[in-house]
Amino acid sequence: MLKAGAGRVSRPPIYERVVREGQKPHALFLTCADSRIDPELLTQSGPGEIFVCRNIGNLAPAYGEMLGGISAVIEYAVTALQVSQVVVCGHTDCGAVKGLLHPEPLSAMPTVKSWLRNAEAALSVVQARNTAPDESAALRELIDENVVLQMSHLRTRPSVAGRLARGILAVSGWVYDIATVMCMSTMNSAGSSSRRKIRLRPWTAVRVRQNDLAQGPQPGQDVALMLGVPSPCCWRTTSP
Ligand SMILES: [Zn+2]
Repeated sequence: MLKAGAGRVSRPPIYERVVREGQKPHALFLTCADSRIDPELLTQSGPGEIFVCRNIGNLAPAYGEMLGGISAVIEYAVTALQVSQVVVCGHTDCGAVKGLLHPEPLSAMPTVKSWLRNAEAALSVVQARNTAPDESAALRELIDENVVLQMSHLRTRPSVAGRLARGILAVSGWVYDIATVMCMSTMNSAGSSSRRKIRLRPWTAVRVRQNDLAQGPQPGQDVALMLGVPSPCCWRTTSP
């Protein structure tokens, strides 16, 4: 019955266009495998607009550490698809980050435990800083710091570093708040180590469009300005 019903559904024209023209995503969106995250919904993107890479903890191993599927996705996105932006998107209540803070349950998951080693440096930073007043604050700090670490890992990759140096690629870091459906953007880089935080308005969707990239920040597009993403990169907010 389901099969018969599905056959009568007509596809929106966008699907015909992306089949005809192929994919031309403008961003690589690297985020956690957590089932509560919907990258297309979060960025208000349609088919063909963002190249998505998901794994536990939104990790991007440093170059040479683990050359596998994640490395291939990153290399393909920047080299073959020539995306102009890479976003590392962490999120609140991340089980992977919780596992870093409390690794005891990971003894039954040796593969996950090994994978999370790619985030251990972030844990070291948070522990050394020792500024979190409680458990939830420590978790939040570690989620942020993990995004920063993975952004730095991206810059160790020749395919990424070269494009950053040429100014044709930008790397941004976001933290998505599942509870409030807000995107707590945290930092940006195009070789810069500057880091800022911004809380978007509730229910504000972040829309990423190729056309926006050439226009630079526009009035009302405070997200791009506050993130400090250098022109011509622009993360445009839509009205709630
Ligand atoms: Zn997660």
